[in-house]
Amino acid sequence: MSAETLVQLLYLVSTALFILSLKWMSDPESARKGVFSGVGAMTLAVAGTLTGVLATGGTHYWWILGAFALGAAVGYPLAQVPLTAVPQRTALSHAFGGLAAGLVGTAKFFLYYGQKNEAALTPFIVVALVAEILLGFLTFTGSILAAGKLQEVKWIPQRPVTYPGQNASNLALFALALALGVALVLHPLAPWAPWAFGGIILLSLAFGVLLIIPIGGADMPTVISILNAYAGLSAVAMGFVLNNKLLITAGALDGSSGLILSVIMCKAMNRSFFNVLFGAFGQTTTAGAEGEAKAYKSDSVESAAMVMEQADLVVIVPGYGMAVAQAQHKVREVYDLLKKKGVTVKFAIHPVAGRMPGHMNVLLAEAEIPYDDLVEMDEINGDMPQADVVLVIGANDVVNPAARSDKNSPIYGMPIIDADKARAVYAIKRSKAPGFAGIDNELYFLDKTFMLFGDAKAVMGELARKLAGESGH
Ligand code: NAP
Repeated sequence: MSAETLVQLLYLVSTALFILSLKWMSDPESARKGVFSGVGAMTLAVAGTLTGVLATGGTHYWWILGAFALGAAVGYPLAQVPLTAVPQRTALSHAFGGLAAGLVGTAKFFLYYGQKNEAALTPFIVVALVAEILLGFLTFTGSILAAGKLQEVKWIPQRPVTYPGQNASNLALFALALALGVALVLHPLAPWAPWAFGGIILLSLAFGVLLIIPIGGADMPTVISILNAYAGLSAVAMGFVLNNKLLITAGALDGSSGLILSVIMCKAMNRSFFNVLFGAFGQTTTAGAEGEAKAYKSDSVESAAMVMEQADLVVIVPGYGMAVAQAQHKVREVYDLLKKKGVTVKFAIHPVAGRMPGHMNVLLAEAEIPYDDLVEMDEINGDMPQADVVLVIGANDVVNPAARSDKNSPIYGMPIIDADKARAVYAIKRSKAPGFAGIDNELYFLDKTFMLFGDAKAVMGELARKLAGESGH
């Protein structure tokens, strides 16, 4: 078999594994297999590329090894971040992906320009090059800024930064970059071409920043998944430039899955996809200032245990706080104890509970809670009025009734889990602090709601002890 055939074979298997990986990752049952298949696909892709380099007598191994070492040095600590920081970690990897695509495009252009290689700089290749650097560098700065916002880096404003004529000036800059691109396509070897190329790079870097600053922290994860799509499209363009079919298919998979995820998240948060794309989230509602006079009722874990073991149906609503506290294993203990006492226990899963899609599924799967008892929001809401107890564990915005009723609320219109419709509500959180959206939650002030203040892991641990201590009824 010739080296070229071997490379293409490796690429083909790699493509198939990438596709299977996406398919498997869409179900918690097969997600682990999906991850391994993705890693396998990437390994084969790298192996294929290296085989190609070696077969064509490439001599720059040390550069490749150096890049491997550098990538591993950056990647290893990145892989160690806690699950709650995964959205910003993901943004950083998109930033690196975008930067890599941008740099490869830049190197290719200057290589061909230096050689005055008219045959290489066909209009098609120049269009691909322009798309590659535009999307690559835009993804780079945009993702760095998005990661910084999510990490709450001090010098990056959390609030949306808006000014008059923002969208118009952004569009004008984009049009300027496109005009430079068109000029380059028409005259790739003109004396001013390197300047035009550099101009596009600068505009793209600026554009990434300008696109992100009008968007508040709350919408950042959605934006990150859009940037994922941009990074993917940039890789597609790079595939055309390098004539590498695997890059084209892998980039297209990356681009389309990022886009689909963004649309799903927009729906779950009732955001218009168009608005996310064009960064028009200027609203800076300062809800939450009112309502301070209202009082919470707190209760003891002991009486919560007593109420729960008398129940027929207990619905647990996990949220970001369960992730912070790493309470999932204690949740499992409580689940087991209640089931043993004949109580039906279901988990209500909101699509954007936590800080990334599937966050709750991952944690509950880690604690080996059966998938059958994880019920999606739309499905469980019908059962809420029949629930004797809803146990809210570190969730806030996803159970806030203001999303249904308060037109001035920043989360108005976001679909929520109807915890307020249950017969009784127990809510675990550490303080009276609001959730991600920074607003009060009427649910906590209802007559039927009892607060169990404390760290979710500690409270669930105590609840498990109380339930275990009871001899049943
Ligand atoms: P949330 O609104 O952020 O509320 C989490 C609550 O957990 C807080 O009120 C906090 O109160 C409590 N908490 C924190 N640490 C705790 C601990 N150790 N023990 C007990 N409680 C703790 O969370 P959510 O209800 O899951 O809602 C998710 C939010 O993130 C939504 O606004 C959603 O739009 C946004 N978001 C999610 C995604 C996604 O993909 N999942 C993407 C974008 C945005 P205390 O500080 O008082 O403890």
